[in-house]
Amino acid sequence: MRTIVKYAFPVPEVPSVPVAGTELAFAVRRIYCVGRNYREHAREMGFEPERDPPFFFTKPADAIVQNGATIRYALGTKNLHHEIELVVAIGREGVDIPRETALEHVYGYAVGVDLTRRDLQLAARDKGRPWDVGKGFDESAPISAVHRAVDVGHPAAGALWLEVNGTLRQKADVSEMIWPVPDVIAFLSRLFVLESGDLIYTGTPAGVGPLEPGDRLRGALEGVDEITLQIAPYETA
Ligand code: MN
Repeated sequence: MRTIVKYAFPVPEVPSVPVAGTELAFAVRRIYCVGRNYREHAREMGFEPERDPPFFFTKPADAIVQNGATIRYALGTKNLHHEIELVVAIGREGVDIPRETALEHVYGYAVGVDLTRRDLQLAARDKGRPWDVGKGFDESAPISAVHRAVDVGHPAAGALWLEVNGTLRQKADVSEMIWPVPDVIAFLSRLFVLESGDLIYTGTPAGVGPLEPGDRLRGALEGVDEITLQIAPYETA
């Protein structure tokens, strides 16, 4: 291998999320996401929920959006959807992790929104094509600060909700997850070597729906944090 003397282009900044109550930042290595992890959401997407092994998709690390940000309505879609989710922040490397020790690999938790170009995702799904363009686009991973497990514990229960322009759209309890966090980590670590810096969006409850330019989102994971997000209004001349 040749020694790199100089990069052709400036090296992009490492995407990161503040660690609450500290001066630290959680540098994001990868973003994994779980599909259909709440029964009522599986039903609203047209599936009878079964306890099949969980399935995963990914987003690029630079899809991260900081809490409180205003983003543009996503390119290439007419049906941008919100999905409020508990997010796990991995703090210790591991592969083939047993569910019994899985929580030892968790650094902390956040609340995030898995923004989805639903029209593109469903078109891909129906044609047996990859989900990348429906899920892994620019600014598709808004997230709160990461709260360390030493501070907030491991939230096995607690309300997870999202309102848009003050109207409640999604509300469930994270105890309703088909595959709880230890199982998600166990399954995922059989497919990928998990490393510190990995985030796992653990799936959304029922009530997903479309967003419009100008919308204001506010959501929370009880005992962890709140998240707000604005979709920029249409440009007015
Ligand atoms: Mn999701």
